[in-house]
Amino acid sequence: MNKKVVARKCPEYDPDILFNIISDIYRACEAPPVTGKKVLLKPNLLSDNDPDKCITTHPAVVEAMIRFLQAEGATVFVGDSPAVHIRSFKPVKSGMYDVCERTGAVWTDFLRSPFQTRLRKGTIRTASIVKEVDLIISIPKLKNHELVYFTGAIKNTLGLVPGFVKAKQHALYQDRNRFSEFLVDLNEAIPQHFFLIDGIMGMEGRGPAQGTPVRTEVLIGSVNPLALDIITCSIIGYDPLAIPTNLIALSRGKWLRSPDEIIYEGPILETITREDFRRIPISPFRNIALKFLRNRLFTVRRLQRRPVFLHEKCIGCLDCIKICPTNAIAMHPAIQNHVVLTDRKCIRCFCCSEVCQSNAVEVRRKVFGD
Ligand code: SF4
Ligand code: SF4
Repeated sequence: MNKKVVARKCPEYDPDILFNIISDIYRACEAPPVTGKKVLLKPNLLSDNDPDKCITTHPAVVEAMIRFLQAEGATVFVGDSPAVHIRSFKPVKSGMYDVCERTGAVWTDFLRSPFQTRLRKGTIRTASIVKEVDLIISIPKLKNHELVYFTGAIKNTLGLVPGFVKAKQHALYQDRNRFSEFLVDLNEAIPQHFFLIDGIMGMEGRGPAQGTPVRTEVLIGSVNPLALDIITCSIIGYDPLAIPTNLIALSRGKWLRSPDEIIYEGPILETITREDFRRIPISPFRNIALKFLRNRLFTVRRLQRRPVFLHEKCIGCLDCIKICPTNAIAMHPAIQNHVVLTDRKCIRCFCCSEVCQSNAVEVRRKVFGD
């Protein structure tokens, strides 16, 4: 597989600049020709939100990608499955639906007749559009992620799984490593043809939904999801080999056998690297300790980061309760807007934090009084 990663500095969401840079990156990556092809664009639409919050891929990037593909003679479809996915979902607040209306790209409901895709272990429901198009292009947002540290090419694929099935995977793969293995399986089962990370504005801190927007001023592309994730991790200061999805994918050798095989083209990496990017903390001993001690010592659970519900911010929408794959949370029967956690049922997937639109779920270690 092509092992090229192409980065370009891009300071703003200007449509003309974006069109030129995206065309340049696509060609420099030697991505497949699209003339006469049906192409699905899969941005990150975790929840339908104002683009300035940086929870979603910026609509200007998606629009420029659509215009480039249409100029090349492709028919373009756009879709994603948000964390809380209702039938006929239309991403209006994020500007994505307007982009489709303006450009003539077809907005696609992923809940329409999904089909079973075979994974290494078992099968999973996948949006039917996946088998109706010739090519799939993924456009992740550069963000932290509480569970898998960062959202890049490999993580963005999860949105091809429509509805609640996504959250259920957390119950099946109950820790960071097993969930990362599942994400790599999913990427192997659903090949995608080009990836472009929207890193003009990224999200540091408590991603993927409650972090802080930060200027990172870069667009990065590749046809190789692992090579792209390794370079992107480096740019935001993560050790790429500390990220489980990267390690698992490298050990399988399908996309790369070593980071040394990556052919990088773009500004000198040190000039675009953001050492000051606020990352999710990685403890080198954490996974080893948890592997041996999980479920044996109560103290280990006490030391883990866990969801903490800020009752004064809660508006009682119930989204966290609906998404929780293990029924670990419920509304207090007598106190209004007071979510109660049953700690022994919680698998630390942090879906509740992802879907809360009121910043009422913090992920942190337990302190006295919680
Ligand atoms: S914690 Fe957030 S998601 Fe859960 S009910 Fe309250 S406002 Fe809704
Ligand atoms: S309470 Fe939150 S972190 Fe715990 S299992 Fe439920 S959704 Fe996941």
